[in-house]
Amino acid sequence: MREIQIDKIIKTVKDLLIDANYHLGQDIVDEFDRRIQSDESPVAREVLKELKENVAIAAQGEYPICQDTGLAIIFAELGQEVHIAGGDFNKAIEEGVRQGYGEGYLRKSVCHPFTRKNTGDNTPIIVHLDLVPGDGLKLWVVPKGGGSENMSRLFMLPPSAGWLGIKERVIQTVVEAGPNPCPPTIVGVGIGGNFERCAILAKKALLRTLGGPNPDPSLQQMEEELLLEINKTGVGPQGLGGRVTSLGVHLLMMDCHIASLPLAVNIQCHASRHLEIIL
Ligand code: SF4
Repeated sequence: MREIQIDKIIKTVKDLLIDANYHLGQDIVDEFDRRIQSDESPVAREVLKELKENVAIAAQGEYPICQDTGLAIIFAELGQEVHIAGGDFNKAIEEGVRQGYGEGYLRKSVCHPFTRKNTGDNTPIIVHLDLVPGDGLKLWVVPKGGGSENMSRLFMLPPSAGWLGIKERVIQTVVEAGPNPCPPTIVGVGIGGNFERCAILAKKALLRTLGGPNPDPSLQQMEEELLLEINKTGVGPQGLGGRVTSLGVHLLMMDCHIASLPLAVNIQCHASRHLEIIL
């Protein structure tokens, strides 16, 4: 059985969180470039240029891309042949988050729901852990901002709603969100499962590289159809109008109960921060 020491997990989570907050993925920057060329609105083109400049300034000076450095979400796939040595797995991840937000001078954004008293170290965190075959540990760190998370929605649709019902709700969610999630966004959509599973699917869908194809060709077609419709709404970059309301739509789907059609829409702002590593 392979051993992974918790010290390695703590350092990995810390480093990835700082890196994700300072450096936006090249996939997003490339998409900014492509859209700067294509949007017919001068205001939209100007906003996209400013977003790109912001990313460059953050990377140069080692600053966060956005003041909202997010609630830390960690997806983990732990091989069943791995022994976590030296301490508690969840506590190790939490310590990595604590150190990352401290040493990286990242804003602490977690508070008590009623008193609004800040917990001071950006914990507690959200961990989604899956046990998988093998002797590796795969980690995704996702610092997720509040503005885009607030505009996300979950619907328990009747099965008769079908694809048309799903499309209607996804577009409605994007339009109602307007400028609040700092568009251009990436729209994660989870279809099927149950109440909680479809929300996790929607969030996991956001981890895919922007512009990378959906492995399921029928879902790929649905993604293209949705993106086309969303970009006809005219919300535009930062909600100032234009054709680039979203940079991409990512779908994940699983089978569901015969009486249900669960749908979750997880909106991700342009500051789409996620990094992954295999230990
Ligand atoms: S929605 Fe995104 S870009 Fe806007 S403030 Fe929140 S984290 Fe920053």
